[in-house]
Amino acid sequence: MKNPYISPKSSGGIKVEKSFIIAGPCSAESEEQVMVCARDLAKTGKVNAFRAGIWKPRTRPGSYEGVGSEGLKWLKQVKQETGLKTATEVATEKHVYEALKYGVDIMWIGARTTGNPFSMQEIAEALSGVDVTVFIKNPVNPDVELWHGAYERIQKVGIEHIGLIHRGFTSYEKLRYKNQPLWQLPIEMKRRLPNVPMICDPSHISGTREYLLEVAQKALDLDYDGLMIEVHPAPDMALSDAKQQITPVQLIELLSKLIHRDRNSTDVNFIHILEELRAKVDRYDENLIELLGQRMAIAKEIGKYKKENNITILQKNRWEEIISKAEQKAAQFSLSKEFIDIVFNAIHIESINNQNTIMNNQR
Ligand code: PEP
Ligand code: MN
Repeated sequence: MKNPYISPKSSGGIKVEKSFIIAGPCSAESEEQVMVCARDLAKTGKVNAFRAGIWKPRTRPGSYEGVGSEGLKWLKQVKQETGLKTATEVATEKHVYEALKYGVDIMWIGARTTGNPFSMQEIAEALSGVDVTVFIKNPVNPDVELWHGAYERIQKVGIEHIGLIHRGFTSYEKLRYKNQPLWQLPIEMKRRLPNVPMICDPSHISGTREYLLEVAQKALDLDYDGLMIEVHPAPDMALSDAKQQITPVQLIELLSKLIHRDRNSTDVNFIHILEELRAKVDRYDENLIELLGQRMAIAKEIGKYKKENNITILQKNRWEEIISKAEQKAAQFSLSKEFIDIVFNAIHIESINNQNTIMNNQR
């Protein structure tokens, strides 16, 4: 299909700057719900864009699947009446064309779409030559390459204003948050794409309104560029994601509780003390690497010795003894069990790999 809406309807890219706030209901449900919510959000003076899902990607059929194109008229009205930018999710070529027709400013790619390269390519091609802002949510599975690949597909067709949304990752276990934040993944994306804005969606991470503040604060402390929060005039009545939505008044309250920290300081004293502390950290990092090298050299020696005596590499009891000693020692230094398990597992795998090379004469 040819894109029928290229230049006349494209609304131009938006510069996403510090504390960019996108808020609005999970789903557009009725004209009244959309307009009441948008008016209240506009009044706060703190919201940059109004979100509402028009087509809802539901995990199981039979849940509320959105109003469809009808809702785009309401978004257009929001923009005309309140001046708020509008945002919705697109998952197919048709969605892109429909959204363009109604002048939607921001299109976001949902978590279930980012992980599908065919869908991403279809959407990217539909966006070719259009000047809109596109946000890409992380895929549901913790795969940085898929997220990065989705970004590249959109970037390749010439979209200049692209942002990323961290909405957490699904997990089989029922844990504190509905979707696990796995902060190391968005941090890796920030490292790879330092000039691409990253915003956090605490609503879909938390899955319940009580954790919104702590997740949003963590995102700000990690220097995110903004937040996308689900807001509904009557959250408990919402047709989708009822538990995680808050009212416009609760949004103001939440935003006012957030602490914004500076990225840098010009205070000479602060800089001096920070440099001293960082120098200490650097020295410890060097020592750590030296120690790890020395430890690995012994592991290799053990590998040779085991080979001469025809003994297996993995000895479960010995490993359990090491890890339990490490956990006990770590507790004395206030290091968490989770942390020490990750570190020692990594050391163990490296030792096994080294011993394997020795045993099988590969080096
Ligand atoms: C949403 O934003 O309402 C949504 C469906 O999000 P996600 O793609 O993150 O599940
Ligand atoms: Mn939702």
